[in-house]
Amino acid sequence: MTINEVINLQPEVINLLKNAKRKNKLVHAYLFEGDSGTGTLEAGKYFAQMLLCENQENDSPCLKCNTCERIEYNSHLNVVIIEAVGEVIRKEQIESLMHDFSFTAMEKGPQIYIIKDADKMNAAAANSLLKFLEEPAPNHYAILTTINHKKILDTIYSRCQHLHFKPASTNQLMLDLIKEDVDSDLAYITSNITNDLVEARKMVAEGKLNMVLNLAKKVSTARFRKKDPYLEYYLNRNILLDNTDKRWHWIFLDTLILIYKEMLLKENKEPINHFQNQLDSIKEEQLDKQELIKILNILNNYEERLNYNVNIDLLYASLFSSI
Ligand SMILES: [Zn+2]
Repeated sequence: MTINEVINLQPEVINLLKNAKRKNKLVHAYLFEGDSGTGTLEAGKYFAQMLLCENQENDSPCLKCNTCERIEYNSHLNVVIIEAVGEVIRKEQIESLMHDFSFTAMEKGPQIYIIKDADKMNAAAANSLLKFLEEPAPNHYAILTTINHKKILDTIYSRCQHLHFKPASTNQLMLDLIKEDVDSDLAYITSNITNDLVEARKMVAEGKLNMVLNLAKKVSTARFRKKDPYLEYYLNRNILLDNTDKRWHWIFLDTLILIYKEMLLKENKEPINHFQNQLDSIKEEQLDKQELIKILNILNNYEERLNYNVNIDLLYASLFSSI
C-alpha cells in the first residue's frame, strides 16, 4: 500500500496522530490493530516520518526529503522494524533492539521502533519488551501492529494506546481498482471477495478470477441466447475444478448471484451498475421477477450445499436444470 492510500483509508488514525503531535500529547507506545491491507505498517512508518521529517513547518511529513525517503526505504537508523523470523519474534531480537536504542541516537531526533505482527512475540520476547515499555526514554516511541489485539499480552496491551484501523469499504476498493484500469465488472467482483487492496491486485493479476467471471457471465445469459447453461459450465469446468478447495465454487456462485441481482434491477427498471454488456443483450420482456427471485433462492441454497461433501458435477447438473 502507498502512504497516500493509507491516508485516504484511515483519516481518523492519521488525524489523531497529527493532533497528538501538535499538542505535544504523543504517548510512547501505540498498538495499531487492523487486518492485512489496512495499512498498519505503512502508518507506523508515516508516524516516524511525522517525527523526523526535515520540513517540520506542517503537521504532515513532506514525504520528499531525504529523511522521509530513507524511512520509506527502511534505511534510517532511528527507525527500526522488527518482524517475525519464521513465525516467531524472539527475545534476542527485542534485546538487540534495546541494546541499540540504549545508546544515544545514531542520528539526531526521536527513535522509533515498529514491531510488525507483535502477537508473534513469544513469551520471553514479550517480557523483554515489557521492561522497555515500562520505562520509556523521552525520545523513544513504539508502534506495535497486530491483526488481533486479543493475542497481545494484557500487560503490553495496557501500556499502549490502541488505534483501530478500519477495512477498506467495498465501494472504495472497487473504485481504486478501476482507477488502476481494472475492468469495472472484475473490480466489482474482486471488491466483493476481499477488503484488502494488495490481495485484490494479486487476484486480478493472477487472471483466474477473470476467467471465473466470464464463465458466470456465459452461464447466466445462456438461456437468453438459447444455449444450455449446464453445457456452458461443463465445457469450461476445468476453470473451477483444478482446485482442491471449494473456494472457487463459492466465488463462482457468488458471481452468479451478483449477476442475477443486477438482472432483477433491470427488470425493476432501476439503474444498472454492473454487467452492462450482458444485460444490454437481454430484453426486458425476457426477464421475469418471480423467476429471478426463484433463481436467487436456488443459488443461495446450492451455495449452502457446498458446505457438505457433494459431487460437484452432479451439483451443477442439478443446479442448472433448475434455473
Ligand atoms: Zn520529509
